[in-house]
Amino acid sequence: MEITEKTTSGHEKVVFARDDASGYRGIIAIHSTVLGPAVGGTRFWNYATEEEALTDVLRLSRGMTYKTALPRLPLGGGKAVIIGDSKKLNRELIFRAHGRFVDSLGGRFITAEDVGTSPADMEIIRSQTNHVGGTLSNSGDPSPFTARGVFRAIQAAAKYRWGREDLSGLTVALQGCGNVGYHLAKSLSAAGASLIVSDVDPQRTARVVAEVSAQAVAADEIFDANADIFAPCALGGIINDETIPRLHAKLVVGAANNQLLEDRHGDVLKEKDVLYVPDYAANAGGVFNGCTELLGWSREQSLHKVDEIYDTVLRILELAHTGGVSTNHAADQIAEQHLDLR
Ligand code: NAD
Repeated sequence: MEITEKTTSGHEKVVFARDDASGYRGIIAIHSTVLGPAVGGTRFWNYATEEEALTDVLRLSRGMTYKTALPRLPLGGGKAVIIGDSKKLNRELIFRAHGRFVDSLGGRFITAEDVGTSPADMEIIRSQTNHVGGTLSNSGDPSPFTARGVFRAIQAAAKYRWGREDLSGLTVALQGCGNVGYHLAKSLSAAGASLIVSDVDPQRTARVVAEVSAQAVAADEIFDANADIFAPCALGGIINDETIPRLHAKLVVGAANNQLLEDRHGDVLKEKDVLYVPDYAANAGGVFNGCTELLGWSREQSLHKVDEIYDTVLRILELAHTGGVSTNHAADQIAEQHLDLR
């Protein structure tokens, strides 16, 4: 395996690896280890170019630093991406190579699942390194915990906006019916919310529609849905100049990382009087689940922390209101105080 390092301002370490025998190509970005070892999922995605993969891993790893700093976890932020077509490559060989790459960082980076990877993949990584969480035999799939945290964030934002955390009678437009979106759809439906759902994979929407009462729309139509809440649970960058004017929702709360294409889109939402719950505050449930493995927490401690997302969200929304700033800036302020950057 050939490993090369690239100096990137703002990140502690960015390393590239390729293994021609397996067709593996990956990048690991360590944004910060100020509070502890960098944790972050591994994303397996068919990026069009290495440049695109690099942009993604740099943004995602920075987001992880803020996600762990906000609740004051003794952990830092990092991320890994594997570049390639998951349908064509040999998964066993790819994740073995990735495990060796993770191991080469000597514990400064600990990985887990993300988009395109599963607990079974983590088991393969585990055969090569100890620096992996979320395996089947340990803390397992983080998605139900992430979904629970997003649900609590929605309740908090509804309480702040409408004075009630009861979601009955409200309509949620849910983008992405994958691991998190599926569990979130079930909780929202059980809470009495109406659902409009979309996914680029029709099987994913079909599973949700079969299990809860939901209306499926074409992937791009979700932005125009007549909903009170928009819950992005697919990929990042979906809040942008093109989509914001199309949104009817008064709240944006979801699991996707890096929902704002650019920071300034948080200000555009504020001007439009749309309340945005910063992604890394809402979607930290999976990390809290991982803390059973990473920090020796009990299951109760981890669930308690997931439920506390409610209070964290209210604190961010209050701070944004009193400071007259966008909610993403308010969340960054708190996280940066914890990182001692302010
Ligand atoms: P997933 O891969 O299981 O689900 C994502 C779904 O989005 C897939 O079904 C995919 O087909 C769909 N999708 C992709 N592009 C789409 C589009 N344009 N429109 C509609 N659907 C589209 O991933 P996941 O684990 O459910 O994670 C969802 C998001 O939440 C990701 O951004 C991830 O980084 C973030 N997140 C996940 C966790 C977790 O615990 N799984 C934790 C924190 C953040």
